[in-house]
Amino acid sequence: MEIVVASGKGGTGKTFLASNLAILIDEKLDGVVAADADVEAPDLILAMGGEKRLLKSREIWESMKASINYELCNRCLKCIDVCMFDAIRLVDGKPKIVEEFCEGCGACAHVCPVNAISFRKAKTGRIYSVETMAGVKTTTGDLEIGGRNTGELVYLVREEAKEFARKDHVKNIIIDSAPGIGCPVISSLSGADLLIIVVEPTPQSLTGAKRLLKVAESFKMKVTYVVNKFDLNEEFLKTIDSELGLECVGKIPYDSEVPSSYSMMRPMAIYGMDTRAGRALKEVFESLGSWIT
Ligand code: SF4
Ligand code: SF4
Repeated sequence: MEIVVASGKGGTGKTFLASNLAILIDEKLDGVVAADADVEAPDLILAMGGEKRLLKSREIWESMKASINYELCNRCLKCIDVCMFDAIRLVDGKPKIVEEFCEGCGACAHVCPVNAISFRKAKTGRIYSVETMAGVKTTTGDLEIGGRNTGELVYLVREEAKEFARKDHVKNIIIDSAPGIGCPVISSLSGADLLIIVVEPTPQSLTGAKRLLKVAESFKMKVTYVVNKFDLNEEFLKTIDSELGLECVGKIPYDSEVPSSYSMMRPMAIYGMDTRAGRALKEVFESLGSWIT
């Protein structure tokens, strides 16, 4: 079963929940594989105490970058006008590609009257898998600066996680999605079984959660939610309940032990299940029992 932990807005505690749920499922339900699908800012491995040993790593070369043949170029500058990404600049009277900005869309080559623009493959990033200090096998991606195809990279991260799960006869995969509703999020949700939305009791976080729920509805997956730091604004909980209209599987209180556990790189499920946040995490895990096979 693929379980996606996501939030419509960054900074809501998504990785906190994903890392600790992964550890609890690993301990209590005979194993789990984790996948960090936030390839632009991966931090799930750190949230699980860091890397114990590298299991596998490979580079991904799926991006395309434009390049100009100056022997053919007649300096018409049509390519500069058409580039939506500001990836072609005028330097000493000549068009110059800024590769970090080039999305490989092909528009410049389309308008070039002398076929002076060609494309080469560029490194998109790498995907790698480690055993974390918490003992959970975790697969992640690392997008190259200016890299594109985040959706493709997320797809490959998930495929790698499934491969580990198959080999280890593990049923559950926890996916820590990117925040928002963009391409990497859609790639995380596609074909997954359960979405856990993490929401904080603020209007901004609820707006993000509603947008995410709308995306999830098109995938026909099971959806539930967890309120993080619920006690910062308890009056707002009813609004969340009524506007999401979903079953809630837990509410986690604000707990100053959480940043302490982060600074020590000891996940809460290891650092302190007898803390307020630890007890709430246990309740979330138990409430999820009927959702997780
Ligand atoms: S469109 Fe082609 S010919 Fe015109 S400036 Fe660009 S590369 Fe040169
Ligand atoms: S391929 Fe697209 S993004 Fe890249 S330089 Fe050409 S027009 Fe700009």
